Amino acid sequence: MTTDDVWTVEVKRDLCVGNRMCVASAPDVFEIADGKSRARSAYWSASPALVDAFESCPVSAIVLRDETGAEIESEP
Ligand code: SF4
Repeated sequence: MTTDDVWTVEVKRDLCVGNRMCVASAPDVFEIADGKSRARSAYWSASPALVDAFESCPVSAIVLRDETGAEIESEP
């Protein structure tokens, strides 16, 4: 991972349980709306905070994809 990488960020809101772990890790990226998380924007520079949020989600509701559209399974 480098900060030059741009990832798309999606929250599967049907899975999200709204425990705010991702917001605590990456408040710039995630916000709570109607009790569930959503990404403030679809595109974000890769960052340790974003990886922390991704890994902290207890229900794997956060989907990160690289520039090719490939899903990121764990910390690159
Ligand atoms: S960590 Fe996962 S379950 Fe918790 S608010 Fe974020 S997306 Fe939802």
